[in-house]
Amino acid sequence: MVKYMKRCHDRHEKVVEFRQPEELNKLINFELKDTPEDLATVIDYCRETLNYCVKTGHPRFFNQLYGGMDIVGLCGQWLSATANTSMYTYEVAPIFVLMERAVLRHMGQLVGFSDGDGIFAPGGSLSNMYAISLARHKKFPTSKMEGLFSLPRMAILTSKHSHYSFKKGAYFMGFGLNNVVMINCDAKGRMLASDLENQIIHLQSQGIAPILVNATSGTTVFGAFDPLDEIADICQKYDLWLHVDAAWGGAIILSAEKRHLMKGMHRIDSISWNPHKFMGCPFQCSAFLTKKKGLLEECHGIPASYLFQKDKMTYDISYDTGNKSIQCGRHVDIMKLWLMWKAKGDQGFTKKLHHAYEISNYLTEKIRNRDGFELVVEPVYVSICFWYIPTAIRNLSDGDVKRRKLSQVAPQIKAGMTKRGSMLVGYQPMDDKVNFFRMIILNSATTFDDMDFILDEIESLGERIEFVQNGFHNP
Ligand SMILES: *Cc1c(COP(=O)(O)O)cnc(C)c1O
Repeated sequence: MVKYMKRCHDRHEKVVEFRQPEELNKLINFELKDTPEDLATVIDYCRETLNYCVKTGHPRFFNQLYGGMDIVGLCGQWLSATANTSMYTYEVAPIFVLMERAVLRHMGQLVGFSDGDGIFAPGGSLSNMYAISLARHKKFPTSKMEGLFSLPRMAILTSKHSHYSFKKGAYFMGFGLNNVVMINCDAKGRMLASDLENQIIHLQSQGIAPILVNATSGTTVFGAFDPLDEIADICQKYDLWLHVDAAWGGAIILSAEKRHLMKGMHRIDSISWNPHKFMGCPFQCSAFLTKKKGLLEECHGIPASYLFQKDKMTYDISYDTGNKSIQCGRHVDIMKLWLMWKAKGDQGFTKKLHHAYEISNYLTEKIRNRDGFELVVEPVYVSICFWYIPTAIRNLSDGDVKRRKLSQVAPQIKAGMTKRGSMLVGYQPMDDKVNFFRMIILNSATTFDDMDFILDEIESLGERIEFVQNGFHNP
């Protein structure tokens, strides 16, 4: 593992040694047998596994909203794995329960909740579901006993650029996809507060009860920040739960310079914030925080007498966290984050953020000034969205032909970089914009030179694409 950690920081190493599934199936014997294998073979499996892992800690891994390798965080992860326990009671996780309280309190204070509550969840999607659950409980407390059957039709409002977990949450919790109302965004991907209010009025006129508005701080593709103050005004007017999905953007709260992007956050009811994303905490680590103390337990508590004995004589049972959670056993995600925070302080994370902004600004400038590269949207965070337009189609007039061709450039380049193993950058279409790259800058080991490297690499792969009449082929 230590060797692997070193390889992750070596730019001569590939980001991935890509193999097709059928090849990997031949390289590693995945099938289980009745008979045991010897320990040397078992260790070989470990070695082989690391050989074909994607090096997400590599300075040229830009594919996702996580990455980098924080050694302190990794040690925290190893330590909590060694301790092997569950977060549900103080009885079996005394240290970790206190750590979680301290970190949640600190994060809550940063958001502006003076006396809030919270829990660590298995990812931002689940954190967002906590928000839906609390909003429903707050509006209709009878839902705990009666479910949806005694209630009016309900709706969740979130922007078109928001994360798909609200849709997942909506069907998982019985609302149905048709009751997730997608609010329009401006050209920069920010929710239009005027459209939000129109949609609320429209829902109410149909006898549908909106229960939750989600505003996103750091949208998944553009990295846009919805206008919290304006949205909070509307939520106040219509008495709606305001959740903020800051899974990706939450880190800016730590920067006095950038915090204005979330102006108004003290007015919200709850927030999701993933330290496993920008902050570089090892996967996974997601915090759900709410201003409403006691509501998590009121909403999710079930008197499981074998775990949460009311007559425990050993300690104050308000330290047990199990009744706030929708899980039973819960992974210790807190140790790695607490340890990192101890080692960095708020300042360390702020420094990481400002460094990422510097690299992002450098890349943005290069894209602006280099032939063939074009920004999709002016970045406000460390997500940079852009097209590469190969010479062969650069002078085509804007229209369907160019769009069709351009839409196939990013997938071709992506296949090329994966096969080379030189770097990993994601792409996607969005609204009326055909496939474009989304660069994510968060690894502290990434340098200005890496930015020049990725642009050169994209250009060199992009120029090799041969356009044929009925699409493309990769030479
Ligand atoms: C990544 C992301 C999520 C989902 O978080 P997971 O931990 O992957 O479940 C939710 N919202 C936003 C804005 C995200 O970027």
